[in-house]
Amino acid sequence: MAEEPRKVVILGGGLTGISAAIHLRRPWVLFEREAKLGGMAVTEERDGFHFDLTGHWLHLRDPGIMQLVAEVLPLEMESVQRRARIFSHGVTTLYPFQANLYGLPPEVIKECLLGVIEAKMQAPGSPPRNFEEYCLRHFGAGISRHFMIPYNEKLWGVHPRTITADWCSRFVPLPNLEQVVAGAVGADSGRMGYNTNFLYPKQGGIETLVRGLGTRIQGGEVHLGSGVESLDLGRREVVVAGRRVPYRAVVATLPLPELLARISDLPDDIVAHAGRLRCTSLRYLNVATRSSPAADWHWVYVPERRLPFYRVGVYSNAVASMAPAGAASLYVELAERGPVSDTTLSEVAQGLTSIGAISSPADIRFAEAREIKYAYVVFDEHYHAATTAIFRFLESHSIFPRGRYGGWTYNAMEDCLLAGREVAGSIEATLGSKTP
Ligand SMILES: Cc1cc2nc3c(=O)[nH]c(=O)nc-3n(C[C@H](O)[C@H](O)[C@H](O)COP(=O)(O)OP(=O)(O)OC[C@H]3O[C@@H](n4cnc5c(N)ncnc54)[C@H](O)[C@@H]3O)c2cc1C
Repeated sequence: MAEEPRKVVILGGGLTGISAAIHLRRPWVLFEREAKLGGMAVTEERDGFHFDLTGHWLHLRDPGIMQLVAEVLPLEMESVQRRARIFSHGVTTLYPFQANLYGLPPEVIKECLLGVIEAKMQAPGSPPRNFEEYCLRHFGAGISRHFMIPYNEKLWGVHPRTITADWCSRFVPLPNLEQVVAGAVGADSGRMGYNTNFLYPKQGGIETLVRGLGTRIQGGEVHLGSGVESLDLGRREVVVAGRRVPYRAVVATLPLPELLARISDLPDDIVAHAGRLRCTSLRYLNVATRSSPAADWHWVYVPERRLPFYRVGVYSNAVASMAPAGAASLYVELAERGPVSDTTLSEVAQGLTSIGAISSPADIRFAEAREIKYAYVVFDEHYHAATTAIFRFLESHSIFPRGRYGGWTYNAMEDCLLAGREVAGSIEATLGSKTP
């Protein structure tokens, strides 16, 4: 039998894999484990209520990606001005906390302001060793105590002292003293953060983006319901449903530990590094209400430990078509990583009422629990050494790990579209004009 020609193999059909497929110029084949494309960027529908895998708001900065999205979804994206809030000490304040202390109890504002001033007066020392030190250095003790530490502990599922600050430069706004003071007295501190505006499909949730991008996929084959079983580095083959597929290069977007677990001929040091990769899971709830939401915000951050969630969003406040008229669809991201009990559900219902997300627990029409196994990669002390060694090894075998979980990082949808474009370019450059 003639040998199957070697192609570029794309593992995983989330946004990274889709973008690689769009941008590759040589033959490729994509294997996706699930029955549809999209990965994390898919949308569930029940009784007219739409839910993403928690809020998936699209923030674009790259002109090429903006153009791509505009071309595949002409007039189908809504541009929304962010309404993000914080709920703490019984009040709702503006985001980001560190630049909008106004409205908090006076003694909290005083503690936060004194902390910032003290932090700004410190002589610059050695770089912070972990995220807790980073917060204390930049925001001082008060803001760290009232927001940064408890919020991030709930989000990451680990204490901020056990992670580095490597992930946060683009995601955590750093106001100057003038902005902090302005925000504390109720003056305008300016709109801050990478997500002051976002795009979102007018219909169908974030999966509409995937469908639009799907119209650009060409020059290869997509196999759905086809999880990769193993990779054979020696023979340069992937095995899917018992079929051996020879590759020239692999774009690996499935979670890095899942990829490594499928390679039997790994050297011992890479196996050891693989054992040090850490990631936290996430449980969240899809919540449908009977009436319009009490709140007008798109999402709210909830740092206090007494409340069982760390972030709540109302899809239908951003785009009304996400819920039937007069009702609302919400996501509730839970601090607890374990199974969701009835007690948790009732605490959530009470909590949603107390933060003003819903008018009363009786307003909930249904609440469904979901789990994301790989949610937040943990940037601990092993992260750099482990990922550097693993990526170097894989790339020496023409395997290119990319995307949020393939590239083992913290990023957003646009970063994944960029990663797919970048890896397609790298592969074209590496393979050059050699015949496919
Ligand atoms: C809670 C949460 C909220 C977020 N909110 C936002 C937001 O508001 N805005 C934003 O821009 N980004 C957001 N993100 C980030 C965004 O979801 C990701 O950056 C992006 O969707 C990841 O795309 P990806 O293709 O790299 O990975 P994925 O979407 O995970 O795709 C990987 C694919 O690999 C497939 N796969 C797994 N195993 C196999 C196998 N054995 N064989 C074949 N295929 C396999 C999976 O089914 C999946 O389709 C959020 C992420 C989380 C966790």
